[in-house]
Amino acid sequence: VGQVETFEFQAEAQQLLQLVIHSIYSNKDVFLRELVSNASDALDKLRLESLVDKELDADTSDLHIELAADRDQRTLTVRDNGIGMTRAQVIELIGTIARSGTAEFVSRWQQAKQDGNAELIGKFGIGFYSGFMVADRVVLVTRRAGEAEGTRWESTGADTYEISTVADAAVGTSVTLHLKPADEDDHLHDYADPAVLRRIVKRYSDFIAWPIRMREPEAEAAETLNSMKALWSRSAADIKPEEYTEFYRHVSHDWTDPVETIHLRAEGALEFDALLFLPAHAPHDLFARSARRGVQLYIKRVFIMDDCEALLPEYLRFVKGVVDSADLSLNVSREILQQDRQIQTIRRRLVKKVLGTLKDMLAKDPERYTGFWREFGQAVKEGLVNDPDNQAAILDLVQLASTHDPARPSTLREYVERMKPDQTEIFYLVGEQRATLENSPHLEAFTANGIEVLLLHDPVDAMWVDMVGDYDGKTFASASRGEVDLKTETDQAPAAEDYAGLLSWMGARLADKVKQVRLSTRLTTSAACLVSDAFDASPALEKLYRAMGQ
Ligand code: ADP
Ligand code: MG
Repeated sequence: VGQVETFEFQAEAQQLLQLVIHSIYSNKDVFLRELVSNASDALDKLRLESLVDKELDADTSDLHIELAADRDQRTLTVRDNGIGMTRAQVIELIGTIARSGTAEFVSRWQQAKQDGNAELIGKFGIGFYSGFMVADRVVLVTRRAGEAEGTRWESTGADTYEISTVADAAVGTSVTLHLKPADEDDHLHDYADPAVLRRIVKRYSDFIAWPIRMREPEAEAAETLNSMKALWSRSAADIKPEEYTEFYRHVSHDWTDPVETIHLRAEGALEFDALLFLPAHAPHDLFARSARRGVQLYIKRVFIMDDCEALLPEYLRFVKGVVDSADLSLNVSREILQQDRQIQTIRRRLVKKVLGTLKDMLAKDPERYTGFWREFGQAVKEGLVNDPDNQAAILDLVQLASTHDPARPSTLREYVERMKPDQTEIFYLVGEQRATLENSPHLEAFTANGIEVLLLHDPVDAMWVDMVGDYDGKTFASASRGEVDLKTETDQAPAAEDYAGLLSWMGARLADKVKQVRLSTRLTTSAACLVSDAFDASPALEKLYRAMGQ
């Protein structure tokens, strides 16, 4: 063992560690799921790396995960012979919180704790640090495949960790937990007990594609604890809901339950399995350029890549899951995938399936759907602009704020059903804030005549409403345009000649600000309002163009 160096955890990491250690976590068992999940990822990566890099000197003949419990020492070791980490990676990956969404997660957890919401706390997945729920000291020894030396990392979960170099570490990673004293009456959670470990692996990690082995002290051979059956290749009828949920947690690194599970098995000319999930909550970086996609690509059960952008369009980037194709070559690159005809066919099928599933959800469980739409609607609407082939299907999914019922969003279908008998257009108002729209003088005449107006306040709304043109044969019409024909009986045109003096005076005073000052029947209580010409860009769109430098 080389010289020992002490490092400080990054601030957010310290915070997370303190939360992990001091919180009453309702279900400590999940630490094992997290460590096994990391080990499984590391095995996937080594397998892949050795396929791509023929020079890599790594033994992939018996990739596996091993659990070793020592009741006398009160330790539990989770070991894998996967890709391993370099010293720099250990510092980067374990000493800081590299994972996106973790800062948000910390604040959510604090909130949940404050509210005494133990149920929610129990649903968090916290990665590597979850080991500190059950251990007061954690030692990680790792060697990256292809590297000469290994690295040892050790911490008690306080503010610092220690790092040293080890000459003889095996390729892969071992994590040893020095377990906290066992609770005398709580044998179910004694993590040095093989029976307990067996139960937890079965419960949370059965689908892991690599063998999870354990050898009991007296036993002759190690036993494999998990069935290793890829969940997506099993028949949906045999899969329990909690198996889906655990798998979702493994692929998504999310701690909540998904709102929807989509299990698709395509047979015939093009064979593939897809197991997709719609998460319950939008990640904080849903609109960041760097946002990761959620679908992994497998080829005949072999993990190929995370984050496969070729499989789903960007507006469905929040969908998580796995696609396993039978007919692709194993050494595909991202660039090739974008062009691949089969991938494109799979992609079309997946989009149809996801949109169809959403349509069903809207019909059968509108409340759940509205929850989904609140989280992801803004992303889905991008599809109206970017995916012309599915525009009609997406229009059926859109929910928008409406003057009809401020408490409930409306679909376009519902709007059309409520249209007045002689109304031919779908009226909307675009703006940046819903409150501003609700108080807009443009609405006065509509309100007075009982005509519903959609209030579009997402940035993307200005773009699609302009491009889409119509829904169900009804044209979209801005309520802020100059000439709106409300076809009302109450219209009493004020005599133009009575106001000629005032109008020309105002026109002259405002000459550099407006095109024209004219009389209108559209206002009921406000004295004046600004409108745009029928062929002008809407103010919101104008603003968007200006922001884009046009
Ligand atoms: P996540 O798995 O969500 O990325 P974790 O806290 O579980 O977050 O792990 C952080 C990172 O540390 C992983 O992304 C991975 O790069 C690295 N890591 C953790 N465990 C292992 C392991 N057994 N082998 C190789 N790398 C690992
Ligand atoms: Mg992890």
